[in-house]
Amino acid sequence: MNSIKIIKKENSNYSKKLLVIGVFHGDEFQGEYFINSYLEKSTSPKKNSVYYIPRLNNNNQRKNRNGVDLNRNFPTKNWVKSENNDYFGGEKPNSEKEVQFLVDLIDGNKFDAIITIHSPYKVINYDGPAQDLALKTQKFINYEITSDIGYPTPGSFGTYCGKERNIPTLTIEIDETEDLEILNQKFGKYFEFLENEY
Ligand SMILES: [Zn+2]
Repeated sequence: MNSIKIIKKENSNYSKKLLVIGVFHGDEFQGEYFINSYLEKSTSPKKNSVYYIPRLNNNNQRKNRNGVDLNRNFPTKNWVKSENNDYFGGEKPNSEKEVQFLVDLIDGNKFDAIITIHSPYKVINYDGPAQDLALKTQKFINYEITSDIGYPTPGSFGTYCGKERNIPTLTIEIDETEDLEILNQKFGKYFEFLENEY
């Protein structure tokens, strides 16, 4: 069993509590790199508490070691058992330990916003009341904003948190053709904003 690492940067009288997730699909490695680079040199948050999960999925492929797409395994109202393809949502909703970990975390904390990092669609997708956060995010990561990714996502994390629990939830799909170090700097500034200003 691989345990999931969570780094809690807490502020005793925080204004907002935020959650940032790096790698949701195992082959989209960038988020973990951005988070770890930032955490190496960052100081205590001045305004908010931010929890970071650099890597949720410890497999190096899109799906986890059980062959399940974690972003289709959440116990949402629209979960359906799918074909066993790249987007296979499991035999049952909430069957995967990574998903159970997040479900427990979200039940046990009142997050004001959640940000997940994916690639490669170059878009800021939001679920729930996250338009304001999406606009603020766009100042750092200059992608188009959409509330509709353009294909069905039954059992997705965005549906679970944003649509069904009204937690502002962003899915930042990075542009994998952009220089990684330039993107890393942009995300560093964005994380600083999340901790100290948002
Ligand atoms: Zn992804």
